[in-house]
Amino acid sequence: MDTTSTRSESRAKLPPRITESLINRLTAMVTAGQAGEPREPYEMIEVYTGDIVGELPQSSPEDVEKAVATARAAQREWADWPLEKRLAVFERAHELILTEIETLATLIQIGCGKSRRMAIEEVCDTPMVIAHYLKTARKVLKSKRRTGPMPIITSSTEEHRPKGVVAVIAPWNFPFAISMSDSTPALIAGNGVVMKPDNKTALCTLYGIELLHKAGMPRGLVQVVCGGGPDVGPALIDNVDFVMFTGSTATGRVIGEQAGRNLIGCSLELGGKNPMIVLDDTNLDEAIPSAIFAVYGNSGQACMHIERIYVHERIHDEFLRRFVAAAKELGDKAGATYDFGPEFGSLVSVDHMNRVAAHVDEARAKGATVHTGGKARPDIGPAFYEPTVLTGVTPEMEHATKETFGPVVAIYKFDDEAEAIRLANATTYGLNASVWGGDLDRARRVAERLEAGSVNINDGFVTTYAAKGTPSGGVKQSGVGTRHGAAGLLKYTDTINIGVQKKQILAARSGMPYEKQLKSTLVTLRLMKKLRMG
Ligand code: NAD
Repeated sequence: MDTTSTRSESRAKLPPRITESLINRLTAMVTAGQAGEPREPYEMIEVYTGDIVGELPQSSPEDVEKAVATARAAQREWADWPLEKRLAVFERAHELILTEIETLATLIQIGCGKSRRMAIEEVCDTPMVIAHYLKTARKVLKSKRRTGPMPIITSSTEEHRPKGVVAVIAPWNFPFAISMSDSTPALIAGNGVVMKPDNKTALCTLYGIELLHKAGMPRGLVQVVCGGGPDVGPALIDNVDFVMFTGSTATGRVIGEQAGRNLIGCSLELGGKNPMIVLDDTNLDEAIPSAIFAVYGNSGQACMHIERIYVHERIHDEFLRRFVAAAKELGDKAGATYDFGPEFGSLVSVDHMNRVAAHVDEARAKGATVHTGGKARPDIGPAFYEPTVLTGVTPEMEHATKETFGPVVAIYKFDDEAEAIRLANATTYGLNASVWGGDLDRARRVAERLEAGSVNINDGFVTTYAAKGTPSGGVKQSGVGTRHGAAGLLKYTDTINIGVQKKQILAARSGMPYEKQLKSTLVTLRLMKKLRMG
């Protein structure tokens, strides 16, 4: 297809730093067209206009095998580098990412259509993760000597070795943060990485990898393959040693099954239907703006964003009135530009917008009330949808328990705290939850009963997500495994136990009758327990 005229029109709308040569340089980094049947390239579009911005090469299964083999060859040398030398690459990468934040934010916006503020905040995630592991990786990865079964004479050492090559499969909603922040600990631990970004949002990831190269990362160690998930996914999972997947629960199940068949580990960060409980002693001046961000940040396309709010009946009407007014005001600040003007951005695509709209339309048709929003805004851009507030959502409606993943929230009234907790837990998901209240002890007691991997008190989701030292992930159908903290680094390693016996004392002693040996064994076991040995 001839896209020349469309491209030159769209180019006029893109910031000048996004040149055709930049896009060509980035897309040339994809391992594609080198082996197997050549694939049709994917036409990347600027979400704000629907215009084509470039073509993304698509990888065949043979390309994927080649990418993994290249990463594997480079990984052997990388793993031999002293940890200090690997960390020095990330010291430089941290600075380069901050220096290039404007270009990265623009590339994110092109593919996602999110607001400038959200794109900037997304970029900041990776330097935060890098800084955390620069501080902690030496201690976490250090070999630890433990007591052996018999003190002094035996020892056991816990060692952490890189798994080999890790697949990092990322979604489109935080495409830079997820691909780069999840790759960071894998690389620091000494692994190679093959990334599989979403086709719609690959440019920002490719730019991030270019920055890693500038920071001194050996060529070949990080590879990028692109394509439809079911096209490249199986070859990827069949060739790597670990899979780090972020995306929907449905895809996570497919990935988990394949990883299980191959007997390799995987970490799955999946979807949510996140609840917020607003207790009757909540300060609404603080809760309303925070809840607006928790619901509509990234236009509702954040895995941890809030889709259900349960408000105590004493403050429900005031909460609803003020929340609806604030949602309307936010909708008035929607816009399709690459500056800080608009506070509310687009959805990622017209297809996705139609899925979001279908949840709202179904709820409305079955009797829910739409207090504000509930319509697309093609006057702003092809995939804009208004911030929407529903009440009267009942369990048979899709929006009640299925992830909508858009700027839509249902508000419910409760009078009994236990009932609010029961309703908050009444989905198959368990990613994030939020509790608001003036009495922190009471809010904490509620938090302890919520089934979610992250629970934020007096916040929507930022407090837990930004705490890079604490592992977080989903429970129930929202995930397997965690990211961040020591666990987020150690999952990319095999733990090896090296035991040393300085003198042969554990084996059966020749010539000694077994009854006698048994007696001495029992005495030893009792003594060891008494002395807290072992
Ligand atoms: P998705 O599952 O459709 O796709 C995610 C990625 O997996 C994409 O790169 C896709 O191409 C790839 N993929 C699809 N099928 C595959 C297969 N068979 N093998 C290998 N790869 C495959 O999800 P999405 O629509 O891109 O993202 C939105 C979802 O991600 C939402 O459910 C959201 O809640 C979830 N999410 C979760 C987190 C988290 O940390 N828990 C963070 C962001 C997004």
